[in-house]
Amino acid sequence: MKQKEKGLNTICTHEGALEDKEFKGSVSPLYMGTSYAFEDVDLKRYPRYFNTPNQEGLSRKIAALEHAESALIFGSGMAAISTSLLAFLRAGDHVVLQNMLYGGTHNLVSEQFEKYGISYSFTTGLEPSDFEAKIKPNTRVIYIETPSNPLLTITDLSAISDICRRHGIVSMIDNTFASPVNQNPIDHGIDVVIHSATKYMGGHSDICAGAVASTKENMERIFQLARGLGGSLSDYTVWLLERSMKTMGIRVKAQNANAQRMAEALMQHPEVEAVYYPGLPSHPGHALAKKQMKGFGGMLSFELKEGLDASSFQKSLKIIKPSMSLAGVESTILSPALTSHSLLSAEERAAFGIKDGLIRFSLGIEEIEDLIADMDQALTKTKKEAVSTAHS
Ligand SMILES: *Cc1c(COP(=O)(O)O)cnc(C)c1O
Repeated sequence: MKQKEKGLNTICTHEGALEDKEFKGSVSPLYMGTSYAFEDVDLKRYPRYFNTPNQEGLSRKIAALEHAESALIFGSGMAAISTSLLAFLRAGDHVVLQNMLYGGTHNLVSEQFEKYGISYSFTTGLEPSDFEAKIKPNTRVIYIETPSNPLLTITDLSAISDICRRHGIVSMIDNTFASPVNQNPIDHGIDVVIHSATKYMGGHSDICAGAVASTKENMERIFQLARGLGGSLSDYTVWLLERSMKTMGIRVKAQNANAQRMAEALMQHPEVEAVYYPGLPSHPGHALAKKQMKGFGGMLSFELKEGLDASSFQKSLKIIKPSMSLAGVESTILSPALTSHSLLSAEERAAFGIKDGLIRFSLGIEEIEDLIADMDQALTKTKKEAVSTAHS
């Protein structure tokens, strides 16, 4: 009988754990050393070579979670993203990316790539044909993000992977919003899977880290650049991240359930204009999300009714906190127009589909009744303020 692959929570809890041979403790020992005996060239251990015991252990867990042969852990999501892109792109190459992208990635490409002689095209549409139309003879990479930030649009993983295979192009995904709990892109043919581990992997808003998972061959190529760029993660943080990831499965499933309930409640709310959540049958990407995701995720966004002020809405919330980041066990919201997209003009934002009343919502693990009540009181208060301003 073929051994069955271990299930999600078993991998989260045990995979890659280091054995405490000396004291038989049940937790991985932490090896902070930067100096190891020189055995032979392949075995030389050093934090920036991504091969200390704790780094190797946690990499095995992440590879198992993403159904990948191999993985590396980085000092941030952006270190993982920049290293992966640059490992596959050289002067004269071209990359196709979706326009609806994490802001840091968008900036990296549009502000830095030209000086390395790398050209790029952004697609506004998310149909596979929109990506294929941008391919040139020198295109080496297609880079996607699904579900996307902040409107939770869905891109078709297997269609993108088919296009890439036909054209001999490497496919890369930022899988941060889904987490490995909800989506395993490698099962759909995607080559390189990237995470900001600062988000669901860490899950407690206290760790900054990144991760990449792929085949041994691709990871060797990424490693060759990674050790030169030097974006490794401290072993202490690696150890903390291992602890956090033991509960990732149960955290994310609770966040999925809360997001679904919240999306349904907001759909019914008179002060809400629109709700964007892939778990809603009305979402344009719902059928696709159902096909390629195992859960719809803990992120949603919604639009306040015309005339309601996003800023005073944020101030009225009592449990849910305004915050730049996401994916922690605590619920947080963000107004893209006031924060991440504030440097764009209203017209530019509109081109992205981001209205001034749009709110991005990262669901935590609190009791959903408390969160719905908090939303309701804040929406009602904001509505009253809008009415009294209009009458004064
Ligand atoms: C936060 C985030 C990143 C960047 O990760 P850092 O850990 O902040 O460097 C990249 N992609 C997505 C989707 C993110 O949410």
